[in-house]
Amino acid sequence: MSERTRVVWDPSFTRYDFGRWHPMSPVRLELTARLCSDLGLFALDDVDVVSAAPASDDLLRTVHGEEYVAAVKTASADPHRADEQYGLGTDDDPAFRGMHEAAARIVGGTVDTALAIWRGEARHGVNFCGGMHHAKRDTAAGFCVYNDAAVAIQALLDQGCERVAYIDLDVHHGDGTEAAFWDDPRVLTLSVHESGRTLFPGTGYPDELGGPGAEGSAVNLALPAGIGDAGWLRAVAAVAPPLVRAFAPQVLITQHGCDTHALDPLGNLTVSVDAQAVAAALVHDLAHEVSEGRWLALGGGGYEVVDVVPRTWAQLVAIAVRQPLERGRAVPESWRRHVEELTGRPAPRTMSDGVSAGYEPWSGGYDPADPVDRAVLATRRAAFPLHGLDPEFD
Ligand SMILES: [Zn+2]
Ligand SMILES: [Zn+2]
Repeated sequence: MSERTRVVWDPSFTRYDFGRWHPMSPVRLELTARLCSDLGLFALDDVDVVSAAPASDDLLRTVHGEEYVAAVKTASADPHRADEQYGLGTDDDPAFRGMHEAAARIVGGTVDTALAIWRGEARHGVNFCGGMHHAKRDTAAGFCVYNDAAVAIQALLDQGCERVAYIDLDVHHGDGTEAAFWDDPRVLTLSVHESGRTLFPGTGYPDELGGPGAEGSAVNLALPAGIGDAGWLRAVAAVAPPLVRAFAPQVLITQHGCDTHALDPLGNLTVSVDAQAVAAALVHDLAHEVSEGRWLALGGGGYEVVDVVPRTWAQLVAIAVRQPLERGRAVPESWRRHVEELTGRPAPRTMSDGVSAGYEPWSGGYDPADPVDRAVLATRRAAFPLHGLDPEFD
């Protein structure tokens, strides 16, 4: 198998643009790519930076309904004809000219990379433009039009892959990806998110476990609002490794929405850039342990587009290209100048938030009165026995 890492990028991905007042500004992608490039990550010998063509209608229809794809194309050609019945032309998903091609290109990048990993042409892949986890079979939702993660998972299954694990670290529940494989025991979807009691989309509780014949294939960890690095990392580390080891996937796909960060305007967690890098390293190690390194990492949410998204996803790319950044690594001066000229805002000076991002592992014991431990225990009690695991000790 090749040791290469494939990163999906070219500036055409910034055409996924809901307009000036929408929180998902494509500037976040441009600044991420430029930061990766200025750090030298795109120029490494074993890294391929590749573009992608929009996914075909046939490929989209492996996950999405035919009428929905037609509705997206209609809205894409004439935004005034957007149909709210399909979640199009709403505040969250306003229609824009070229929306179909822009959304389908994200799918193309994620599917191409997943299949390159499956064929052994790359060991790892990153599509930070992807991770559109709220898109459902027949509706756009939560800034997502087509679910690139779901189409890629389905493409792997259609190529003969027998088990895919998907870990969703976005602050929001990964509801669309979960729904696509609700009844499919070949796909484990694990979502760790802020509780639906305080955040969109209002779902993702521990008792949501998958359909008949696929019980345990969906796993949800709903965290209390306000928690930071120690609680978030403890939770991720208490569920993801044991479940993924037990499931033994052939490919690991992870979604790295960075709206968990303290500065994110939509979520209510207080996670740092550093903790997200720790989580990225954890899932990277897990892929080497369980799936021969076959790992595809995706972006997702993230609405603090200067201080948070570029640094978080550049750290993710650095891990995927085997050049993890040393603590306190300076942000390249060229990138800082570009940010300040483009946005008129001061750019961060280092790649770190200057925190330790440590956590206590579950194996050291738990406190049944602690809100994080109660959330973790609820998920472990609901899901672990379905995988032959002990909820308290594994
Ligand atoms: Zn690796
Ligand atoms: Zn999100």
